[in-house]
Amino acid sequence: MNIGQEILENLKEEISESEYKRYIRHLVYDVKKSTPELALFYAPNALVVNWIKNKYTEKVAHLFEVKTNSKVTVKITLKNLVDKRKKQKVVEVKQGNSLLNPSHSFSNFMVGGSNQFAYSAVKSISEKPGILYNPLFIYGGVGLGKTHLMQAAGNVFQNEGKVVIYTTVEQFLNDFVRHLRNKTMERFQEKYRKCDVLLIDDIQFLSNKESIQEEFFHTFEALKGAGKQIILTADKPPKKIGGLEARLQSRFEHGLVADIQPPELETKIAIIEKKCEINKVQLSKEIVNYIATVIDSNVREIEGILSKLHAYSQLMHVDIDLEFTKNVLKDQMAEKRENLTMDTITEVVSKDLNIKPSEIRSKGRSKNIVYARRIAIYICRELTQNTMPQLAQYFGMKDHTAISHTIKKINELIKDDEDFKTKIDELTNKITNIS
Ligand code: ADP
Ligand code: MG
Repeated sequence: MNIGQEILENLKEEISESEYKRYIRHLVYDVKKSTPELALFYAPNALVVNWIKNKYTEKVAHLFEVKTNSKVTVKITLKNLVDKRKKQKVVEVKQGNSLLNPSHSFSNFMVGGSNQFAYSAVKSISEKPGILYNPLFIYGGVGLGKTHLMQAAGNVFQNEGKVVIYTTVEQFLNDFVRHLRNKTMERFQEKYRKCDVLLIDDIQFLSNKESIQEEFFHTFEALKGAGKQIILTADKPPKKIGGLEARLQSRFEHGLVADIQPPELETKIAIIEKKCEINKVQLSKEIVNYIATVIDSNVREIEGILSKLHAYSQLMHVDIDLEFTKNVLKDQMAEKRENLTMDTITEVVSKDLNIKPSEIRSKGRSKNIVYARRIAIYICRELTQNTMPQLAQYFGMKDHTAISHTIKKINELIKDDEDFKTKIDELTNKITNIS
């Protein structure tokens, strides 16, 4: 037994068995890298690292001191990050449309005041497509269930044997471009104009894309004229989507526009309970309430927490209790920067380099502006989940190819220009610390 293990054995006698099992026994002492002044331990995940850092470093240091008669610094670091969630690589050029997710059903959707209106609208449409509200336009913030609701209707139609197309604007656009290039536009038109139900997600991305707006308009008219149901979602109401042809805006408003608000506490509780049931996770009422209170609105975040709780509890062979939950949530908050927006990043870069956000996002070619824009683009690419087309749109570039050229250029600069790299690192640090 090495000295590190001995110390942990000593610690075992001083703390509760559950604490030991849950956290301490996962520690591994690094015999090679530790010195008489430094005791280095590895922990398998961030949760254990934080927990031990906060609660036990002093105690462990003290035990070392008693044993070796000299002052030892204790360091806990992460190794074998088991929960290393693969950064989802967004497929940039997706051809064809997405499939409907079968678990996005009405019965899995929890209804409350915040989403009652949208729910009722979609539900009634699923019973009488093409007649009641056409199009149905659902809008609301991220992760509030727009896609879920839209697909719930899609699933009903599909089960009835109807031809349902579910697509994002991005996929629609890619499909359009591909058919244009292959000179098969009739096939494109036939596909979209002959379906029974068309579901288009995140329609706000039509903004400022004239040629696809034109094509979409004709698709829309053909479907509507034939009494086929159209459902659209967006992050804002039609009026607020800038860069949209007037005729499209008016078409969007012509059916029914329904909003979804962030869920209230009871709805959040119901959603959590439903997700637990679906994912076979058992949580006490106390824990469900706790999670519902701490998470403000984004339902997707709730799902993240549940899967994390589940993964950790399996990994560490422990039951999920309140204390454990609190720790996982703390950990989750640290990951919140995944929700970092391009606005925030641009703002920080802007302040630091004294270039206005509007200039960073402009087509300005002056040296300082290009410099700031490159940095902002690079950091957005690194720290957010935005796709190349989204980046292109945000930074006023022609398309994803322009962005990918820029990123290539930046990567070269990072390799060759020490100052540039330092600036990027410095700003990245700044940004990750504020979120
Ligand atoms: P949006 O499209 O509005 O960004 P999604 O429809 O993708 O949001 O929802 C995010 C996640 O939250 C999905 O997994 C969805 O199942 C879930 N969700 C959102 N609202 C509800 C609800 N009311 N009941 C059950 N699950 C919900
Ligand atoms: Mg969505």
